[in-house]
Amino acid sequence: MTIALAIREAADALAGCSDTPRLDAELLMAHMLGVSRSAMLIQHMKQSPPPPGFASLIVRRLRHEPVAYILGEQEFFGLTFRVTPDVLIPRGDSEVLVEMAIKARPEAKRMLDCGTGSGALLLAVLHGLPEAEGVGIDRSAAALDVAAGNAAQLGLDDRAKMLPLDWHSAGWSADLGQFDMILANPPYVETDADLAPSVRDHEPAGALFAGADGLDDYRVLVPQLPPLLNPNGVALIEIGSKQAEAVSAIAERAGFAVTLHRDLAGRPRVLMCKLSLGKGQPNG
Ligand code: GLN
Repeated sequence: MTIALAIREAADALAGCSDTPRLDAELLMAHMLGVSRSAMLIQHMKQSPPPPGFASLIVRRLRHEPVAYILGEQEFFGLTFRVTPDVLIPRGDSEVLVEMAIKARPEAKRMLDCGTGSGALLLAVLHGLPEAEGVGIDRSAAALDVAAGNAAQLGLDDRAKMLPLDWHSAGWSADLGQFDMILANPPYVETDADLAPSVRDHEPAGALFAGADGLDDYRVLVPQLPPLLNPNGVALIEIGSKQAEAVSAIAERAGFAVTLHRDLAGRPRVLMCKLSLGKGQPNG
């Protein structure tokens, strides 16, 4: 059997469990062969037999394991991130937040990433702003290991510090100082949301779920952000596509002026929060 035929059969088998069966099969085969997908498509399709381990990767995918966890990596904002089941897989939906961060404050020097996970948001922003440095925090030690590994692999470990902190613990931010920019992609999924098995059964629940309405982490985190920002600072907060109103209200109550930004699919995705003068400012 040729590589081409093995890919075709695998894609047929995956059609019931994946929206992208052909792509999945190609990525898993290229991984098995140890070559890029494009090199495989150009050079290896007529080769035979297919590598013996390919079938077992397809079996994992048939059990809804995400391709990114099988490969151990995911591309985000043009960079390759190592991912394990301890971290959420970086989503294309979040790239708009990185773009906004780089454009909104090109002069920013100090960043904080709340719930850094794989480090994707912080490291992509630091990659785009070579003068900046940042702190990524997460309550998961396993996630921080992944984030620190990604910082090193991307050559950003001299500018990115990963700290085990949890915004639910009193005093968590006491030693952090102030920041020009805060990034956050906290858990925001409703506990009983109807999620694909690839997400619900494989991605870390602690990075996804935030109570019955998905707002628990915003309620706790957002009001703690204003004192962490320099006066000209900005917080960029990812939201679920139906949460713009509720999270804006939380941010406004915390003293922020809020603008909503959409992702590439046109869905509400990021709140840009600035300290609004006159609210909680002595001379405003
Ligand atoms: N965007 C993710 C999803 O819809 C959720 C990310 C999060 O909770 N921060 O699966």
